[in-house]
Amino acid sequence: MSAQIIDGKSISNAIREEIKRETADLLEKGIRPGLAVVLVGEDPASQVYVRNKAKACEDLGFYSEVHRLPADTSQADLLALIARLNGEAEINGILVQLPLPKHIEEKAVIDAISVDKDVDGFHPVSVGNLMIGDDSLLPCTPAGVIELLKRSGVSPAGKRAVVIGRSNIVGKPVSMLLLRENATVTIAHSRTPNLPAVAREADIVIAAVGVPKLVKRDWVKPGAAVIDVGINRQEDGKLCGDVDYEDVLPVAGWITPVPGGVGPMTITMLMQNTLKAAKRAHGVG
Ligand code: NDP
Repeated sequence: MSAQIIDGKSISNAIREEIKRETADLLEKGIRPGLAVVLVGEDPASQVYVRNKAKACEDLGFYSEVHRLPADTSQADLLALIARLNGEAEINGILVQLPLPKHIEEKAVIDAISVDKDVDGFHPVSVGNLMIGDDSLLPCTPAGVIELLKRSGVSPAGKRAVVIGRSNIVGKPVSMLLLRENATVTIAHSRTPNLPAVAREADIVIAAVGVPKLVKRDWVKPGAAVIDVGINRQEDGKLCGDVDYEDVLPVAGWITPVPGGVGPMTITMLMQNTLKAAKRAHGVG
């Protein structure tokens, strides 16, 4: 028996079609969701991400604007731009592409974004709302993980979930979301002893580590759902995840490939957040 492969691209496309339909309805009411993306410097990967985000907006009928700032932009200038975008009615979401150049304090920038426009879900108030269980804009990659599970027929309720990784952008928020979905959640990290045995207890394994092919077959309980958030560049230039896909495929019940699993969901969830922020701003839905 081999795992059911969770096709992130097709799930992502299905969600984008839903967003497109909702956007068309909003456009008829004179409402156009708008996203501002801010890129500081010329990091090649960031440039690709920003292009993809602008393209996704265009495909869905959103308004978007990209602010490309030089690498030596001062923190004060960046904060001034965010303050201006916070006040602009046609902008419902603001995304500052990370990482930022070293002379800019990431936290100051995240804190400056209006919570209502925090489509990355990184603002401390958004994080707090997630923790409390209040309605908020959810961080995109963790929200994408939950969507992949649900749309593949894997309900987290009552399941044992092990999240490997405790970063603020993936590990911690995805753990909170799984808890909210009534899973029993263990958060593992680099100081967790006997990690393979811990992972083997899980019905759902989420790998968000940044170590290529860390999760092997003997880490996975037969039939478990394995969601691989990792994106690692190998020596041959190809991408691989934090899960040894070929090794785990025969034992898992469900598995996400890399690329084509979690990756496509992140921008889609960003679009969903922008739509949600637009609806909220106009008091609809
Ligand atoms: P971080 O480096 O911020 O966090 C990695 C986490 O993994 C840390 O909590 C660390 O533990 C833990 N860890 C590291 N090595 C080990 C190990 N050997 N055993 C157990 N735990 C370990 O990474 P991110 O959360 O930002 O990203 C994780 C991966 O997901 C990366 O590959 C990244 O590229 C990818 N990613 C993919 C996205 C997507 O859109 N698909 C979006 C964001 C990230 P400790 O805290 O103890 O140091």
